[in-house]
Amino acid sequence: MATVATPRVEAAVETVRVSAYDVPMEETESDGTLEWGSTTMILVEVEAGGERGLGYTYGDVSVAHLIESKLVAEIEGADALSPPAAWARMQAKIRNAGRPGVGAMAISCVDIALWDLKAKLLGLALADLLPRFHTAVPAYGSGGFTSYSNDRLREQFDTWVHEMGFPRVKMKVGRDFSADPGRLTAAREAIGDGVELMVDGNGAYQRKEALFWAERFSAFGVTYFEEPVSSEDLEGLRLLRDRAPAGMSIAAGEYSWDLFYSRGLLTAGAVDILQADVTRVGGITNFLRVDGLAKAHQVVISAHCAPAVSAHACCALETLEHLEYFHDHVEVEKLLFDGTLKPDGGRLVPDRSRPGLGLELKRDDAARYLVHDSEGNG
Ligand SMILES: [Mg+2]
Repeated sequence: MATVATPRVEAAVETVRVSAYDVPMEETESDGTLEWGSTTMILVEVEAGGERGLGYTYGDVSVAHLIESKLVAEIEGADALSPPAAWARMQAKIRNAGRPGVGAMAISCVDIALWDLKAKLLGLALADLLPRFHTAVPAYGSGGFTSYSNDRLREQFDTWVHEMGFPRVKMKVGRDFSADPGRLTAAREAIGDGVELMVDGNGAYQRKEALFWAERFSAFGVTYFEEPVSSEDLEGLRLLRDRAPAGMSIAAGEYSWDLFYSRGLLTAGAVDILQADVTRVGGITNFLRVDGLAKAHQVVISAHCAPAVSAHACCALETLEHLEYFHDHVEVEKLLFDGTLKPDGGRLVPDRSRPGLGLELKRDDAARYLVHDSEGNG
């Protein structure tokens, strides 16, 4: 009878630290349905075998409290080589606290930290630990806030396209309908004809308004319309998917907290491009499963935000279309971490020479943004 080899590494999680950082934006920003002046990152650090893994999500500081009250006790002592086993126990633990929303973000960032830790224990980049479909991840510059002046919009898109080499960029639309044609004109002037222009409505339109604006956007060469209606309106998304101009993809899915919502979007025929956010949908463990759903429904995935972790996770997606290089998260990740990736010709390429996510918290720099720390410093 064959025998099972002794694992090269055995380690149990020894410590779990939870902190949160609130980083003010350069100015108040807005999209079609929300305004914000800061971005909050919730960070989890787990230690085992002399290595420290980290994971994060963007949300409210209440995510940190939920991790401490419900998840830390589940993770301490957990087998550091089995992140999905811990994931399943965390899911069970928060049944009555509520799994979608804050619960899903809490599990996501712990799960990412456990995967980062495992990769470090094994001395591999996370992208190399996970199943590999890609060595480089196509990305798009994402920002173009409705709060920007047209000059600021032009400047941002000019930098992304002409200095950083992005072949596609995305702007927000839908806050002031009358301003959008002028904003799209400015955007198209800045990027030229050969670059893909994408728009994100953040659910700002009613169904027939969205259809009307899809036609208008098409005249500017827009090829991608994200959340034209609320992501809760699956019938409305389906209407847009069926009737939007030829060559325009309809996308949604950034608020998917689990496989069941992602499956609902797919079975409703609501999207051409399924979005998924590794920091919301259940971490690395569930993000990989969304790829299987997308494959079975013959659609592609666009990864939402958190580029420093998404870049590694996206290498494992067969159905990957692209990753959102979101302005706010790029700035926050550069402020808080060493080891973030610089786009190379519009692509992100995980660094094989750095184990795990390749990220190091700049604890001293981060201290000024600290709003919560399980070690009592916040
Ligand atoms: Mg969006």
